[in-house]
Amino acid sequence: MKIILLGAPGAGKGTQAEVISTHYDIPQISTGNILKEAVRNETELGLKAKSFMDAGALVPDEVVIGIIKERLQKDDCAKGFILDGFPRTVPQAEALDKMGVTMDKVIDIEVSDSLIEGRMTGRRVCEKCSASYHIENNPSKKGELCDKCGGKLIVRKDDKPETVKERLKVYHELTEPLKAYYESKGILAEIPGEGTVEETSQLVFKALEA
Ligand code: AMP
Repeated sequence: MKIILLGAPGAGKGTQAEVISTHYDIPQISTGNILKEAVRNETELGLKAKSFMDAGALVPDEVVIGIIKERLQKDDCAKGFILDGFPRTVPQAEALDKMGVTMDKVIDIEVSDSLIEGRMTGRRVCEKCSASYHIENNPSKKGELCDKCGGKLIVRKDDKPETVKERLKVYHELTEPLKAYYESKGILAEIPGEGTVEETSQLVFKALEA
């Protein structure tokens, strides 16, 4: 099972990727999480990516394509994987094709911009393991701490309102054209993502098992 999750920032890709990953026992590969860890660890990659990320811009294609190329070679990808936040531009999708990776399904989670702006302000992420929560829709059972690892939950720098607006603009300009790209390959499934986490998961599985 090789799956891509498409959708605007805040559409719920990370949350749904975690659910799918557990269900099919395949890894969730999130370029956003890999980049954030690199920023935290102040690696060469992190230093290169930080200014783009803080501004709500995309990290250059060649950087993220390099990350994915390396990650997909690991043994745990043999059974399949979920790409969460990659590809985000047409050149990234073309690079995936050139690597010889054939995707089975692309799930596009549709949420309106206004709802996204509201969701972002309530979003919290674990500073240790990057698990994602929402103070109302998907709270941690441990309050300010992560259910999974006990790490502290924080507001992402790029979830600030002005940065969210920029990220949505970038999404519409550069990422949305991927819908047509995968529709023409016959593997796109569009699902509404404005309900609860569970409702959206049901629609995701319905699309995956169709
Ligand atoms: P995310 O957690 O997926 O929203 O990613 C956080 C940030 O990492 C994004 O706002 C981008 O700056 C960067 N990023 C993640 N994935 C990609 C990608 N595929 N291409 C370019 N930049 C990315």
